[in-house]
Amino acid sequence: MAEDCIFCKIANKEISADEVWRDQDVVAFRDINPMAPVHVLVIPVSHIASLDQLQDQSLAGKLILTASELARKLDIDDSGYRVVINTGPEAGQSVNHLHLHLLGGRSMSWPPG
Ligand code: IMP
Repeated sequence: MAEDCIFCKIANKEISADEVWRDQDVVAFRDINPMAPVHVLVIPVSHIASLDQLQDQSLAGKLILTASELARKLDIDDSGYRVVINTGPEAGQSVNHLHLHLLGGRSMSWPPG
């Protein structure tokens, strides 16, 4: 766990979040500032600063499959959804704990800004 990491604190239940999934490796919770009707963040329990630091292939697979399972569970799979990993401040990463954005429930344009 990293000091002063808000997502570590959510993973360790030190601060509350609107959780939609939790197991020993992965936690998913609703984004506090949603950009779509469904906007969930999927994070590893362990502190990994960004995608750049992710080396565990099994965990990588689990994070992605959790996102697709949640898309089905939250009923956005049929209408299409997007999974985004902002990596680095120039790409919009504001929290330095790896997280996948799962967004759905509205139509989306491409490319993102
Ligand atoms: P980033 O900009 O890709 O790093 O995404 C960080 C996301 O975390 C943003 O969409 C924020 O709205 C979200 N966020 C920050 N703090 C919290 C929180 O305490 N609970 C839920 N979402 C959060």
